[in-house]
Amino acid sequence: MSVDFDLLRTLHRMHRQLADIEQRLRKGPLQVKIATQNEASFAAALDDTKNRQKENRLATDRKQMTMNEREAKVEDMKAKLNTAASNKEFQLLKDRIAADEQASSVLADEIFEMLERQDVIDQEVVAATENLEKSKVEKKKIVDRVTEESKVLQEERARVAGELAENEKKLPMDVKTDYRRRADAKGEDVLAETDAVTCGNCQVHLTAQMKASLLMNEILFCQGCGALYYLKEGVTAK
Ligand SMILES: [Zn+2]
Repeated sequence: MSVDFDLLRTLHRMHRQLADIEQRLRKGPLQVKIATQNEASFAAALDDTKNRQKENRLATDRKQMTMNEREAKVEDMKAKLNTAASNKEFQLLKDRIAADEQASSVLADEIFEMLERQDVIDQEVVAATENLEKSKVEKKKIVDRVTEESKVLQEERARVAGELAENEKKLPMDVKTDYRRRADAKGEDVLAETDAVTCGNCQVHLTAQMKASLLMNEILFCQGCGALYYLKEGVTAK
């Protein structure tokens, strides 16, 4: 049973091409997945910042309302000073006005701080919006590129697979079944180049008898990995 090693070499090259194409085809969806995750995390960050913006604004409004009420009350009490019925009532009003004004002053400081914080958060919302927009643009670029690349790779895969199938027809009948079964299970490792000393796939050592068989172009499977051998170019009997 002899076989054309050039044919096996060609088959091996095509199997390798197919494996390479498959690997590149798997990379695309992975890149899209990462870009999608990036976009989602920027969207979540924007939501988070907007929530803080809303909370701070509401809290500021509540404090502002409290202060307005207190100031109105103080104005009310100031008006009552003139109509106080006694010194005692006058002094009582004075003390309460002083206390409320003190409290208002603390509140005014707090409101001022919250308004400053609002400015910072507003800027954070602008930045988070920009980040999200950028990530959307980036994702679209990646999706477009991957779609285009996948199309090209799929065409290439169909072409190489077609050529491979054509060349496989040239295999001797008595090796076809074994080859098919192993190719389906092992892919590119169905074939192995050997220098007649070791297997190019699994490095198992060949016997002198195996070397002699190969030099006569005989069909031989590796005892280590099961690959179909073809002799490396330039290897001769020595
Ligand atoms: Zn092997």
